[in-house]
Amino acid sequence: MNPDHARFAEWDAAYVLGALSASDRRDYEDHLAECAECTRAVGEVAPTVGLLSRIAAPPLTERDEEPDAARRAQLVSIAGRRARRRRGWWVGAGVAAAAIVVAAVAVPLTIESASQQGSVYALEDLANAPLEASVRLTDAAWGTQIDLVCRYSGEVLDAPEGGWPYALAVVDANGASTTLSTWRAEPGSTTQLSAGTDLGVGDIGAVEIRTITGEHVLMRYEADR
Ligand SMILES: [Zn+2]
Repeated sequence: MNPDHARFAEWDAAYVLGALSASDRRDYEDHLAECAECTRAVGEVAPTVGLLSRIAAPPLTERDEEPDAARRAQLVSIAGRRARRRRGWWVGAGVAAAAIVVAAVAVPLTIESASQQGSVYALEDLANAPLEASVRLTDAAWGTQIDLVCRYSGEVLDAPEGGWPYALAVVDANGASTTLSTWRAEPGSTTQLSAGTDLGVGDIGAVEIRTITGEHVLMRYEADR
């Protein structure tokens, strides 16, 4: 076990919810790179948090200021508890989440989406976007499943009704990009969506969040080659 693990063992849900401070987040991401157990925990809690934000969670967007700390702590607690304790619940939730995602973005998804595989990578901010995002890349028979968790963490700017639109794109080893999904994000909201590409994990050069027109890359995870 990683020697720092004890310090970070309970940070998964807070991380996925974007509730960590910037410096804590950096420390945790450094730890994630070296700790398989925490990486797995993040992968496990991410779909739960996404589900909460889609279905059950009161919006974090109703205020003009910082998200309410108590509400955040409550969500962290709920998400962490559910993800850890109740495997059966989780599988059921995974299926429900998969159904919702299929309806929303019509990507290939199977029950495999409920398994905890793949690796989680943080996206690097390239344009001072008010976003914090990570992707989980999971090898599948048909290509790669890409699970995105994206939190709109910045200040409340003049967001249009329904929030700013963004696009998720995958770039292959030759630099050719494909838009996989689009979504809207309001300040304070956390978006979780699943997409698929026929590229194998090893053939993915980068995963990017772009402006809706695809012109500007806002955040990127670049694969090591
Ligand atoms: Zn750890």
